[in-house]
Amino acid sequence: MKFQLSLLSFVFAISILSTIDAQESKSRWYKGNLHTHSLWSDGNDFPDMIVRWYVNHDYQFLALTDHNIMSVGQKWMPLKTIEKRGGKNVLDKYVKAFGDKWVEKREGKSGGTEIRLKTFAECRKRFDKTESFMLLTGEEISDSVGGLPLHLNATNLKKLLRPTGGSTIREAMTRNLRAAKEQAKKEGREILVHLNHPNFGWAVTAEDLAAVTEERFFEVYNGHPGVNHLGDKIRPSVERIWDIANTIRMGQLDAPPLLGIATDDCHNYHGKPGSQPGRGWIMVRSKQLKSKAILRAINAGDFYCSSGVELENFSFDPKSKTLTIEIKSEKGVEYKTEFIGTAKDYDKSSRPRLNNNGKTIRTTRMYSKDIGKVFATQSGTKVQYQLTGKELYVRATITSSKKHPNPSFKNQTEQAWVQPVFLK
Ligand SMILES: [Zn+2]
Ligand SMILES: [Zn+2]
Repeated sequence: MKFQLSLLSFVFAISILSTIDAQESKSRWYKGNLHTHSLWSDGNDFPDMIVRWYVNHDYQFLALTDHNIMSVGQKWMPLKTIEKRGGKNVLDKYVKAFGDKWVEKREGKSGGTEIRLKTFAECRKRFDKTESFMLLTGEEISDSVGGLPLHLNATNLKKLLRPTGGSTIREAMTRNLRAAKEQAKKEGREILVHLNHPNFGWAVTAEDLAAVTEERFFEVYNGHPGVNHLGDKIRPSVERIWDIANTIRMGQLDAPPLLGIATDDCHNYHGKPGSQPGRGWIMVRSKQLKSKAILRAINAGDFYCSSGVELENFSFDPKSKTLTIEIKSEKGVEYKTEFIGTAKDYDKSSRPRLNNNGKTIRTTRMYSKDIGKVFATQSGTKVQYQLTGKELYVRATITSSKKHPNPSFKNQTEQAWVQPVFLK
């Protein structure tokens, strides 16, 4: 195979082309979730129980991303609090999984049993296994701007990043990204920052996402049912936001497109309704299961998102201008692939959304149907789209006929999302 690249990113294309050629024979797909919560913040299970869940469900990497805290240091938690969140048998389940020796209990100062939460280092020591599983450090930087929730996940960071704040969503996004960048430089490591659930609290608009071009990643699917994935009557869906943001970036700002990430954002591990594990993940093509290799592949756009549909392969060949996708087929399941994008000569007009009193609502503006147009729809497990040169970009959404076994929104079927590709 010559080379396979999901995206010819402005920054990375040239540097990785030669290496991808050499590494292709050895690369494979690694499954991972970059957004999950534990008792360290507002999740309802022990961090080690959570890691164990992902290991047992055939994930190869995971980041524990609690709100403004990393799983370091001594943290004892009253059993009462833990049971309130996770249910009466939460400790029994923990002891059953790990044994009495592993579980640390003590009598709390104000009476009542306390349990010590295992740290990142302890979880890593217990679960990391070469080429099988890797735990990454993480944090959900949970900022707030004028009451709007602005959450960004930092993966592979060394030290806690405190929310920077800012007078606008854009300013706060930029400041948080710069803080992460500074740490990355200082520590000599790669830190991946992605913008979480833009429609949560209707906090982040497509124009915000377009304007902050330092951000290259955002959650196109987050399995938490409260993130307004489909939008509502007056506000666009997350996928529509993706297309609007990328059209503005590529059509007006000469900036690279945002890449999509799918995550669980799980808080509930005991069957309660709400965010649960296993709904959204990414598949990364890499030669090795090492933080550097995985982050490098993500940075190069060599990954796709899934809520159930898995791919055998995808590739974009700029020579033939063709995006090729091979879907892993499941018996009795049908697949519809939509190639979605915006043409270079799109209608740039937009108007604000108004409420009943004619006042502008703070949300993404209304754009023409030229943006995020379905260029082609194909069925089957091997699909292709040849770019004509008139497109700003083309991406693909694959929707299966299979109902999602644990949906986060009404009538959800399993899907996969392939990153935008384009010709230079
Ligand atoms: Zn969040
Ligand atoms: Zn979260």
